[in-house]
Amino acid sequence: MTETAFRPDFPLPDLTEPLTSPFWLAAARDTLALPYCRTCARFRWYPKATCPGCGTDDLPWMEVPGTGTLFSWTVVRHAFLPAFSGQVPFVAALVTLDAAPGVRLPTRIVDAKPEELTMDAPVEVCFAPLSYPGVPGEVRAPFFRLRAMSDGNPT
Ligand SMILES: [Zn+2]
Repeated sequence: MTETAFRPDFPLPDLTEPLTSPFWLAAARDTLALPYCRTCARFRWYPKATCPGCGTDDLPWMEVPGTGTLFSWTVVRHAFLPAFSGQVPFVAALVTLDAAPGVRLPTRIVDAKPEELTMDAPVEVCFAPLSYPGVPGEVRAPFFRLRAMSDGNPT
């Protein structure tokens, strides 16, 4: 049986990965940023070396507002890795960003009970340190929470 090797800071994001490091550098400034293809005039997610639409490698990262809607979610109740044991239950989700149609960003929903979540619920980004017990370091990461609408109702 082959043993899997992990980075010492796994499961924290790999900040040295060239394709994704701009995402985490932006998050460190409490900013959400995504790769954008000028030729296709759309954001591309997940980050790739070339645009899947036109093939260009000119994909500058652009800041986007952190508002969107809840596309899908699940409540994770079992930790398959020991590093996650103190984190369950948590809500893993896909969020559609208002400024980036077609992008569905994987994230966690925070500050909400699972029964409060509904399809297309308005959400907004919030930034917080991501860390795991026994894992050195932390990374500032984007999470999402339900967004109160102007009438005071979240939906
Ligand atoms: Zn393109």
